[in-house]
Amino acid sequence: MAYLDTNPALGYPLVAGMGLLVGSFLNVVILRLPRRLEWEWKRDAREVLEETELYEPPPPGIVVERSHCPHCGHQLSWYENIPVLSWLALRGKCRSCKAPISPQYPLVELLTAALFVACVWNFGFGWQGFGAMVFTGFLIALSGIDLRTQLLPDQLTLPLMWLGLIAASDNLYMPVKPALLGAMVGYVSLWSVWWVFKQLTGKEGMGHGDFKLLAALGAWCGLAGILPIILLSALSGAIIGSIWLAMKGRDRATPIPFGPYLAIAGWIVFMWGDELIGAYMSYAGLA
Ligand SMILES: [Zn+2]
Repeated sequence: MAYLDTNPALGYPLVAGMGLLVGSFLNVVILRLPRRLEWEWKRDAREVLEETELYEPPPPGIVVERSHCPHCGHQLSWYENIPVLSWLALRGKCRSCKAPISPQYPLVELLTAALFVACVWNFGFGWQGFGAMVFTGFLIALSGIDLRTQLLPDQLTLPLMWLGLIAASDNLYMPVKPALLGAMVGYVSLWSVWWVFKQLTGKEGMGHGDFKLLAALGAWCGLAGILPIILLSALSGAIIGSIWLAMKGRDRATPIPFGPYLAIAGWIVFMWGDELIGAYMSYAGLA
């Protein structure tokens, strides 16, 4: 680790390459985890309702099974599975059936690589940088799943919160107290918004996954990060959301996932929160 710190010319390409590989894994998580969960929920629901057992083959697992073309089932060989390069070489089409391959694959891989480099740029090649990459990977997976399915699975939000608290138990980014308070206030603040909205309108304006995601972000960014995260996510949600609506021309009742905005805001505050708050304070003449 110390060696990479003194040889960044080796460290940055190494981290970028690792980001491409992790991004390729995150693509699999984004696609397969929701299907796996839905299969489990249906199975559990049948059990609770005491319906007759029905054999439904489980969807592919996340780690073990190899990738197929979702269109024709063609199994990908290793050279069709290289991050970004394979997609470019195949010009975004399946080698066997020529069905288009989603640009999600190379985009997630490139995004992961770029954000991982930013993590070590900011935190160095030690445990802080490593923790930042773990945090980043979870947020990319959660955003991708929320965009595709409007879900923020507990299987990701809860471990992310625990990891943030464990990092704080070792004083990695902050002591335990602000991390614990951040997780708690993060959960309660969005829960209260949801509750008030529900009392006033009788509608559910937000998913419970959003509270758990903000709790996880609070564990990583601390209590002081909660308000900037809420403000930044509301701001980016308003800007990106209205551009999106203008482009797609959908009506305002269309649910827009809030998770990606929380994730973007949480990532920015985690990376540059102190600088942001400091800049704001001096701008406002408070410091
Ligand atoms: Zn195919």
